[in-house]
Amino acid sequence: MAKWIGPHVSASGGVYNAPINARELDATAVGMFTKNQMQWKAKPYTGEIIERFGEEMQTGGYRAEQVLPHATYLINLGSPDDTVREKSIAAITDELARCEQLGLIYLNFHPGSSKGEIEHDECLDRIADGMKQALAETSTAQLILENTAGAGSTKGRTVEELAAIMERLPDSSRVGICIDTCHAFAAGYEVHTPEGWDALMGDIDRIIGLGYLRGLHINDSKHPLGSNKDRHACIGRGFIGTEGFVHILTDSRTDDMPLILETPEPEIWGDEVTLLTAIAGGSSVEEAIASVGGRAGRAE
Ligand SMILES: [Zn+2]
Ligand SMILES: [Zn+2]
Repeated sequence: MAKWIGPHVSASGGVYNAPINARELDATAVGMFTKNQMQWKAKPYTGEIIERFGEEMQTGGYRAEQVLPHATYLINLGSPDDTVREKSIAAITDELARCEQLGLIYLNFHPGSSKGEIEHDECLDRIADGMKQALAETSTAQLILENTAGAGSTKGRTVEELAAIMERLPDSSRVGICIDTCHAFAAGYEVHTPEGWDALMGDIDRIIGLGYLRGLHINDSKHPLGSNKDRHACIGRGFIGTEGFVHILTDSRTDDMPLILETPEPEIWGDEVTLLTAIAGGSSVEEAIASVGGRAGRAE
């Protein structure tokens, strides 16, 4: 059993740069985009790119289970606009196929938003139907639903909402969930306390099944509990606090899954990886902060 920790690194210049960038930070997990996240479409990978990606994965010692690709932010499977929705289905199908080409097994995405224009249930129907179409056109990679902060009319704020989407699928063999700590906290889950974290894990176990938990996004939150605001902070510089991650990182339920940092300062990602790895290994918060010379884990 191990803790796999790493940031969502840049893949610009070629997807193979993601494992290269992760390795430079001594990361044991990799978060990445499979293409430019600001565009709907991208050129297909060449055989050369796919081969190079495999080589860099091997050099870094990364296996597919340690990598959590993130889908383009433009995608909204629940969109009330049929044009946007069709584009979203095409884009997520393409990204899922890209993951398969790279030998990866997960694709994390945000469920979607009704934009306040359609009923809640109709939006969930659209999301599940879009997932169904993408899964039907691919063969192995899994769609991972990420919980959201619950801003506006975004779906996936609660475990129940993620479950309601999953229940609409005829088969759950290629779906899973990812919990973003910042989003959960902003949505009102007290992940910063051992009791609150246990309650969330208990909800997941009871409502979905812990076997469907494929990864976490480890982010501190710039806004307080229940704010519904999706603003990530560096570890220890937000309302969760470094202490608030100790029970998460020492919980055996988070073993052997990618724990991805999406924190806002790439300059300290290496220090954040070292800090969190130390805490996961049993160091106290003080020792862990000292181990990175105070460059991460506390207010500036
Ligand atoms: Zn996300
Ligand atoms: Zn996230």
